Amino acid sequence: MVRSPAIAAGWARADKARRTISVFGATGSVGRSTADVIQQHGDAFAVEVVTAQSRVDELAEMAVRLGARLAVIGDPERYEALRERLAGTGIDVAAGPAAIIEAASRPVDLVVAAIVGAAGLEPTLAAIEAGADIVLANKECLVCAGALFNRRAAAANVRILPADSEHNAIFQSLEAANVGAIERITVTASGGPFRTATLEEMRRATPAQALKHPRWSMGPKISIDSATLMNKGLELIEAHHLFGIESARLDVLVHPQSVVHGFVTYADGSTVAQLGAADMRIPISHCLSWPKRVAIATPRLDLATVGTLTFEKPDLERFPALSIARHALESGDWATNIVNAANEIAVEAFLAGAIEFLEIAATVEAVLERAVATVGGTEFATVDTVLALDAEGRRLAGELIEFRGRRAS
Ligand code: NAD
Ligand code: MG
Repeated sequence: MVRSPAIAAGWARADKARRTISVFGATGSVGRSTADVIQQHGDAFAVEVVTAQSRVDELAEMAVRLGARLAVIGDPERYEALRERLAGTGIDVAAGPAAIIEAASRPVDLVVAAIVGAAGLEPTLAAIEAGADIVLANKECLVCAGALFNRRAAAANVRILPADSEHNAIFQSLEAANVGAIERITVTASGGPFRTATLEEMRRATPAQALKHPRWSMGPKISIDSATLMNKGLELIEAHHLFGIESARLDVLVHPQSVVHGFVTYADGSTVAQLGAADMRIPISHCLSWPKRVAIATPRLDLATVGTLTFEKPDLERFPALSIARHALESGDWATNIVNAANEIAVEAFLAGAIEFLEIAATVEAVLERAVATVGGTEFATVDTVLALDAEGRRLAGELIEFRGRRAS
């Protein structure tokens, strides 16, 4: 059974001349790729809202470039600066987390969810409530809220269009007539910067080394997640919720060339995959123009130049984050929520130099173990419960990191 409203709802929605769109997390890596795609789509879109957390100049420049009606900055202290930068442009300005959520309630056809982390949850749910179809890059909001996210999307009758490259590949490989015949779904992984590193090299890895992704240029948080393979773990959880496939039928395959992004194996032995250059504008454009395709300028895949495609199983010993995330997926939404929260804190701590690289996964695992006794089995009837658990996961991770810090000093 495929749960995604995107796939279940058919191909209908109106073919309006100009669709309205808002971009949340517009100054980030996905946000900037989205802006480029919107511009390449010519007159297809009218931009309503763009948001960012702290980069005033980039946000103002993008709001003007895209002709947005409203620009919202998350940090309330930067309101004046944004107002000054946009004075005389006719673009409205707002600031603060509540203003971001309010902006997400503005009725539009499409909302691109490209905020990083669980911070994207409330705006995305507000957009769903307002009836917008969601172009979902922000996998953490799905990992954090689990089935509640899908329930909200189904209740509002909106589509979730997967922009994450692997999930977009799977989305493209799904055949509406044969969803019942899906045997397995596979997300591929580049393997990250430490694919061939020894455990000792990984223990000593600096933030600069961990941020250096071999194939994709991305924001810092997902880059670290790609180095630990937690990103693939989060993507297994994401795939479970998007496609309604249980853990036992979800695979991860390391594929260093990042040409095959994901594939579906059907019951008759056919495997259908999507291939493409490692450029987020391709899956984003697919979501923005779905169910059609629009010509855009992106690097084309030249298989003769690529020459060889290789695949290998992930090494779960060096990359325990993958097993931790899978264990959480099999334990329930409360567990994936805790893993996501603890991981966000651990990644921040690693980037700040407070813990070592291998301690990221170790922290997440220890937090999950502790959380079993206190919040294990919590059901998500409301968003408040989701946010309370997220806060608990962050608190536990913070405590553990502080304890390790004290012991080390
Ligand atoms: P990024 O760090 O480059 O950008 C994040 C954006 O979110 C920025 O605009 C920032 O201002 C905003 N933001 C940060 N914290 C915020 C907060 N507390 N409140 C409101 N806004 C906030 O990140 P990215 O690499 O573009 O990734 C964005 C999301 O897309 C992540 O969930 C990531 O996992 C997912 N994703 C990214 C890629 C990629 O290629 N970068 C690929 C697939 C999925
Ligand atoms: Mg991905």
